[in-house]
Amino acid sequence: MKAARLYEYDPHMNVDLKIEDVPPPTINSPDEVVVKVGAAGLCRTDLHIIEGVWKDIMDVEGSLLPYIMGHENAGWVEDVGSNVTSVKPGDAVICHPHRSCGICLNCRYGHDMYCDHGLFPGLGLDGGFAEYFLTNESSLIKLNTNIAPLDVAPMADAGITAYRAAKKAAQILYPGAYVVVLGVGGLGHIAIQCLKNLCGARVVAVDREPGAQALAKDLGADIVLDGGSDLIEEVMDVTGGGAHVVIDFVGELGVENICWKLLRQGGELIVVGYGGKIEVPTVDLVVNEIKIGGSLVGDHIELVELMELNADGLVKMHQTEYSLANINTAIDDFKNRRFTGRGVIVP
Ligand SMILES: [Zn+2]
Ligand SMILES: [Zn+2]
Repeated sequence: MKAARLYEYDPHMNVDLKIEDVPPPTINSPDEVVVKVGAAGLCRTDLHIIEGVWKDIMDVEGSLLPYIMGHENAGWVEDVGSNVTSVKPGDAVICHPHRSCGICLNCRYGHDMYCDHGLFPGLGLDGGFAEYFLTNESSLIKLNTNIAPLDVAPMADAGITAYRAAKKAAQILYPGAYVVVLGVGGLGHIAIQCLKNLCGARVVAVDREPGAQALAKDLGADIVLDGGSDLIEEVMDVTGGGAHVVIDFVGELGVENICWKLLRQGGELIVVGYGGKIEVPTVDLVVNEIKIGGSLVGDHIELVELMELNADGLVKMHQTEYSLANINTAIDDFKNRRFTGRGVIVP
């Protein structure tokens, strides 16, 4: 099969993936499923993998390279292990990015992302920037008949990550409250749609790119700001004293130390983007009673819920498609923000 493989890490990302012919994956255990990739979303995590940020975490033995990234996958079941009963070859599926075991206590509590034995194809083992990839039965969700894998692949990670953060926010928001979405990229544009469907709060979207600002407006953001140097004053002004919730989809490049300053007293910051380091004087935590926490991908059920919103036309992926052969162009366009929403690789 054709696959795009990473041969070396580079902090400056001046490396191209190589498009090669490699043997397709085969079933090794009874719960495994080979999926014919319909599409695979391109994620900022892929850029961080190329930079080497994940090297020590996922490449413990230094033997992972050459390596196939791609963890936002949807496609069709190609082959199934002997114990698989819920899907059959030909079924259209979206793949939760984490292959959880379903047996450990965390899995039984529904915390798929905390699974004691979890595997993450595309992050530590080969993923979906290829014609086929290997996952397990418990990660799969069958698509509604009117939904094509190409329309939803990035929902598998970008989508549920945004959905989980939006759902957390919605639990503490109410009509008249304000939520700030920092970064209207692959995740932020999904979060805006989720927030508009999950709660009555007013959504303030922030992005420097005019294209992303226009997309935010199209998707129903109530207020759109350009993230200039006076962002804190602007947010204080439009929200009447600060946001009730801020969701930071950037988490680096200095945004990580502006985001918490956008909160009102008692407000909550949900960090989703990563790479930077938050420095908050303890006095601010105390005097303003702000809460700061993170949000990690999402559980299986959250992906099911998101797919229901998608099936009803309420949350849609805005994407630009690239062939597998053009994956290096896609990566370059992503780095330079030449598309809005998500970039998607189609093998
Ligand atoms: Zn991702
Ligand atoms: Zn488990």
